[in-house]
Amino acid sequence: MVSLKKLINSVLAEDNKHSKIKQSYLKRTPISAEKFLTAESFEPSGVSRQVGRWSPYPLTLVRGEGPFLWDVDGNRYIDMLGNYTSLVHGNNYKPIHEEINRVVSSGTAWAANNLYQSELAQQLVQRVDGVDQVRFTNSGTEAGNLALLIARALTGRYGVLMARFGYHGGLQEFEVGSFNLGGPHTYMAEYGNAASFEAVLQQHSEKISAIFVEGVLGAGGMCPAPASFFIELKKMANKFGVLLVIDEVISLRLGFGGQQGNLAVTADLTMMGKLIGGGFPVGAVGGSREIMKVFDPNNLQVWHSGTFNGNPVTMAAGNVSVRELTVERIDIMNQLGLKLVKGMRCSARKYGLPFSVNHSGSLLNIFFSEHTPEDITTREDHRMITKFHLACLNHGVTIASRGMFVLSTIMDSAIIQEALERIDLAMKDLADEI
Ligand code: PMP
Repeated sequence: MVSLKKLINSVLAEDNKHSKIKQSYLKRTPISAEKFLTAESFEPSGVSRQVGRWSPYPLTLVRGEGPFLWDVDGNRYIDMLGNYTSLVHGNNYKPIHEEINRVVSSGTAWAANNLYQSELAQQLVQRVDGVDQVRFTNSGTEAGNLALLIARALTGRYGVLMARFGYHGGLQEFEVGSFNLGGPHTYMAEYGNAASFEAVLQQHSEKISAIFVEGVLGAGGMCPAPASFFIELKKMANKFGVLLVIDEVISLRLGFGGQQGNLAVTADLTMMGKLIGGGFPVGAVGGSREIMKVFDPNNLQVWHSGTFNGNPVTMAAGNVSVRELTVERIDIMNQLGLKLVKGMRCSARKYGLPFSVNHSGSLLNIFFSEHTPEDITTREDHRMITKFHLACLNHGVTIASRGMFVLSTIMDSAIIQEALERIDLAMKDLADEI
């Protein structure tokens, strides 16, 4: 086991010794450091999700309430990440909390239907165009797997076409896309560029079962794409006999009917997750009645099961979460998103930092460069964004280490103002250190 002393020494090592940001992080979070050392002994690289691993070590959190989080050292943070968008109503949201307490006292999962699953399915059907029926899974990753199984069953083809730097979860076929490697069954084209998808289909359509694209390119830097892109994809999906799968795991929060509703486009299959579980593990695939015939027990084409699929706790929490994500609340979050961007731009200018942002409603990704990069791998600000992430933590704001900010419905103007004051201090530290 690495000793705490060794960890501290490595943080204070040559290239870090002038980093006030790192030193201050270390001073504020000694118990997190200690907890991480233990974690590292028993979990590879000390974590169970890659995005939760940052240098010198991740925080250990102990509590969340509303827009706030607390770490094991007692520091308070404004939660501007919301567990990568799943906590759309913030932490420990009272209506969800009360519902969960009620449901959990009757047990947690049975191998039969429960009272909440069809209610959640119904809500999603009412919201998302093109979704007549819904199958639940336990994660967005599993939803991607299921969508692919359906596409393979219906087309008899094995391959998948996705956007470079797209992310659809940890399934092998999709991971090669996010690492920009391609793979034996994975073809890639450029997000937002319909012609590049058509070119791949012209050449390989007989091997491709589905096009997978996100409503906005989330992990790839929060890039939006216009309605025309999705409309073109739908046309070519029909032309080449492949399915169009729109992944709304992140983007569902952008409108009452997700990003598809905002853009008036309709997928063959819609992947959902995150917010529809009210803070619990979840995923779902929705599609037309016709497509969902693959699950018809009299002519079963896709076998799909899962011990925790549609479990009552997740479904009950999801019902509250989806029901309470009203148009009015989405609008308020979007307005607050604008305030956040405006304030950050102002701070960046004050300290002479280059600044650009990809922004969709309550989701944004910032870059310390004059222009947003063409794609996430060509970002030039790795050093700066890494320091800024740590500086934000030092000033009590949690964001994604890649510079992603996420708002929640329980935020108001005052909390955004407080966040902006803290972010301003983080930018000052960054400017002092580069
Ligand atoms: N699709 C998208 C667009 C995502 O952002 C994610 C997760 N960030 C997934 C799928 C996978 O979801 P999960 O982490 O629940 O497996």
